[in-house]
Amino acid sequence: MSTQRIIAVEEHIATDQFLRTADSLEVFPGDRTEIDLMRTVVSNAPVHAALTDIDQRLATMDSVGQAMAVLSINPPGVQPYPAPKSVALARAGNDTLAQIVAQHPDRFAALGTIAPQDARAAAEEIGRIMGPLGLHGVMINSHTDGHYLDEPQFDPILEAAEAHGAPIYLHPRFPSALAPYDVYGLQGAIWGYQAEAGLHAIRLIAGGVFDRHPDLTILLGHLGEGIPYWLKRIDNRHEFASRVAGAAGVMPRLELTPSEYFRRNFIVTTSGIDDQAVLDLALDAVGDDNIMFAIDMPYEDSAHAVDFLNRASLTDTQRSNISHATAERIFNLAPG
Ligand code: MN
Repeated sequence: MSTQRIIAVEEHIATDQFLRTADSLEVFPGDRTEIDLMRTVVSNAPVHAALTDIDQRLATMDSVGQAMAVLSINPPGVQPYPAPKSVALARAGNDTLAQIVAQHPDRFAALGTIAPQDARAAAEEIGRIMGPLGLHGVMINSHTDGHYLDEPQFDPILEAAEAHGAPIYLHPRFPSALAPYDVYGLQGAIWGYQAEAGLHAIRLIAGGVFDRHPDLTILLGHLGEGIPYWLKRIDNRHEFASRVAGAAGVMPRLELTPSEYFRRNFIVTTSGIDDQAVLDLALDAVGDDNIMFAIDMPYEDSAHAVDFLNRASLTDTQRSNISHATAERIFNLAPG
């Protein structure tokens, strides 16, 4: 067992007011299935309490030896609701996050939320999140009404994130093309979440986003949403496809290989993966200075996740980076 300072970085929160307001809004038709399921999950009494009760959260953190939580609004946040209501909901949510952090600055940091539905407003909100609100980055819950951040209408968001030094946590949600996943419960964390978030990350890489925004930092949960497993094949097949099909103009020419962008522009977190073999793949793909501990509270068990971290086969430097030092660097947190 270790006595490392532990910071967990994918820790979801909600307030009754946020949930009530969200419940009253129109939903994009393609998001109806996800919203119906998430409302069932959030109305489960233990989940609801874990999301909304700050004292209970602090008690849980104390009981497992967790120093800090980097909070984020419960997924899928404000993205299923058309603008302008989603823009207002994001602003209100960020004000609440800032209040919670101000009340417990030694225990909480937070990632703000934005509504990519209105990219100009979202870019402005990133300035408020990283400026007056004093938060530490933004969480975007993958696609917005079937659209992805590599599409040109979202460029103001990427520009603002890069300019303000806001890391973007690309969090999973139900896939945008839902039909093939809409059986046996596969839309969610069993398979759909990582398929969706992994696709989004690969779109950013293959679409040349990191040539346009070389200083952008993207965070992925689940130790990289499968990408560390595929990384050498992605390089190999990207090179082949660029050579054979890229000549026809269907693929942007990239300055680096996919794995070079993954190492340079991505941070991965351990949320929901308590598996040494997968951790070893992530260490090989991005290195311990690009890995952060995360629990995914309230959807994963805090004690189980901390126990995995404490027992993982790691050097002292690796353990220090993963448990707190990478989070301190990426989110600009004061060392403990
Ligand atoms: Mn999560």
